[in-house]
Amino acid sequence: MKAMDRDTYEQFRDNVRRLAVDKVAPHSAKVDATRSLPVESLKAFRDANLIGLPFPEEFGGQGGDLMAQVICIEEIARVCATSAVSLFTSWIVLDPLVRYGSKKLVEEIVYPVARAEKVAAWCLTEPKGGSDLAGVTTKAERKGDNWVLNGTKRFITNATWADWYMVLARTGEKRTFGIFAVHRDDPGVSFGAKEKKMGIRGSPTADVILDNVTIPDSRVVGDPLKGYDYMTIGLTNSRPVVAAEALGIAQGALDEAVKYTKERQQFGQPIARFQMIRGMIADMAIKVESSRAMLYRAVEMIDADPVQARAYASIAKTLCSDTAMSVTTDAVQLHGGYGYLEDYPVERMMRDAKITQIYEGTNQIQRLIIAKHVLQD
Ligand SMILES: Cc1cc2nc3c(=O)[nH]c(=O)nc-3n(C[C@H](O)[C@H](O)[C@H](O)COP(=O)(O)OP(=O)(O)OC[C@H]3O[C@@H](n4cnc5c(N)ncnc54)[C@H](O)[C@@H]3O)c2cc1C
Repeated sequence: MKAMDRDTYEQFRDNVRRLAVDKVAPHSAKVDATRSLPVESLKAFRDANLIGLPFPEEFGGQGGDLMAQVICIEEIARVCATSAVSLFTSWIVLDPLVRYGSKKLVEEIVYPVARAEKVAAWCLTEPKGGSDLAGVTTKAERKGDNWVLNGTKRFITNATWADWYMVLARTGEKRTFGIFAVHRDDPGVSFGAKEKKMGIRGSPTADVILDNVTIPDSRVVGDPLKGYDYMTIGLTNSRPVVAAEALGIAQGALDEAVKYTKERQQFGQPIARFQMIRGMIADMAIKVESSRAMLYRAVEMIDADPVQARAYASIAKTLCSDTAMSVTTDAVQLHGGYGYLEDYPVERMMRDAKITQIYEGTNQIQRLIIAKHVLQD
């Protein structure tokens, strides 16, 4: 599946939506309540080869372009954000490896992940900071033919579940970093306790601790001095995917609000008849549709020139995630007291929406990137 025409994208969307409604949605409340991996969703993704969606066909994937990834995640997140995160994390983690990794490393890691036999995690953030990635202190030191890694990575999605950990570690002064492939079973790797989170509760998050982890030179992704550049390019591709997660959550909340306001009666009529409610629904739709338009525009720009489009990835991520927070909050409001209960999905959606304003670079950091682009400084 390469770049598709409009009809093919819509056909693909219909297929993913059907899968999401039939196989993902029935389990989303349970996944949230039990804070457990979305095993039913993962099986459905495996059966439909969605886990391999973005990976090149020669690596066992489908070769789906960024637009296909965005459509897929939007449709899954519409019914279950945890399932969307569990699907796309390995995609975005392995982007630098697919682009810059050696054939040997790609065969060892990308093939099994694309075939849904292994799982990957991205280790950037540290206890002292996630926004200032140039301040990362985890070190990789060359010793003979090996590299020795020391440091702690915080808030790592898929930690404990993942087999492979792509670690950003300092190899020199200032912005000199490498990306290193660390396996869960490498001596010196351990994990912190699983974090108890507000949302995306079925997705495991924990510290990854590296204590004199010694790995061969063949585990370096590309050039050990260019990891920061690889990561920056990777983020330009991953931010639209997180934006799609946010957009999906917002669309799901709007759908729930439409359904509820047409059913709920007050003062002898459905609350959807009241002008103030109609205004809220209209504002939610304006936010969702304009976010979708911006996201798809950003994807087209990234396809054309990823370096120039960096700020547009940030605009899409910021707009879609702010929309998700606003629309889910309004959806809870439109459900009245019932919106505050776990019985209705909007309560979960509002909690799930929040993370999209925080990870893959907070929205304050996105605004810094956007302002730099606009001011050209
Ligand atoms: C559930 C979850 C999953 C995650 N998954 C991963 C993962 O898989 N891999 C990974 O590496 N990381 C992951 N993260 C980490 C995430 O990317 C960071 O939490 C995020 O980048 C923010 O970093 P921080 O938490 O250290 O906040 P800080 O950087 O300490 O920021 C605190 C506040 O200050 C603001 N701020 C910071 N600097 C500036 C500035 N210059 N100007 C204005 N405001 C500023 C921030 O926007 C924020 O509001 C995850 C986090 C969570 C909660």
